[in-house]
Amino acid sequence: MTDEPQGARDQGPDHHAIHRRGLMLVLSSPSGAGKSTVTRALLAGDDALSLSVSVTTRPPRPGEVDGRDYRFIDEHQYRALVASDGLLEHARVFDNYYGTPRGPVEAELAAGRDVLFDIDWQGTQQLAETAGSDLVRVFILPPSMAELERRLHTRAQDSDEVVRHRMARAADEMSHWPEYDYIVVNRVVNQAIADVRAILTAERLRRQRQLGLAGFVNAMRGAP
Ligand code: 5GP
Repeated sequence: MTDEPQGARDQGPDHHAIHRRGLMLVLSSPSGAGKSTVTRALLAGDDALSLSVSVTTRPPRPGEVDGRDYRFIDEHQYRALVASDGLLEHARVFDNYYGTPRGPVEAELAAGRDVLFDIDWQGTQQLAETAGSDLVRVFILPPSMAELERRLHTRAQDSDEVVRHRMARAADEMSHWPEYDYIVVNRVVNQAIADVRAILTAERLRRQRQLGLAGFVNAMRGAP
């Protein structure tokens, strides 16, 4: 198997483009650990990275935009997507269903671009079954449970009952940290953003993601 463009072999090193295979960057965390802030910062100013916009059956929160934050669908549409294998992974989180549409992710990866996933541990496990080394899993932790509770209350978009429910679930979610490749503790958000950027930069440079290198180097050796 070769990853070279046809005819490149006989045309010298300039015709052997080194390009890269896209990666799948998963960010998981309990709600309130600062994941959305990190996600927004990563996407801003990085043209090679795009967000996988999930479908969900939960209602939009104030300020959320359909098609940007989520595709808000009803349970009937969700079941149809599952039945037609239209989702790369899907899970019930809290009392709602969430899933990752397959088509946009496959198109981005095929174009050599990276995709960011804001999904929970259940979805991450499902992606791990098929994605292999394309998958980079980052778990964002809050500095303490007390700080997590404070952030959930400050955010105040969810009712007290929802906050209680999410606090109860947070410890469960956090117990999945060993299933991730990297752990980032969000003490100061700018540092957490820098940490995830550093992970992304290093992962992009991994040898196995570089395509066309063998042909490039061979052509160099054959060059006058
Ligand atoms: P929220 O309702 O607060 O936006 O998200 C709740 C949880 O669902 C978060 O942990 C988020 O990462 C997760 N989530 C969002 N989209 C997906 C998805 O497509 N698949 C899975 N498995 N989890 C998701």
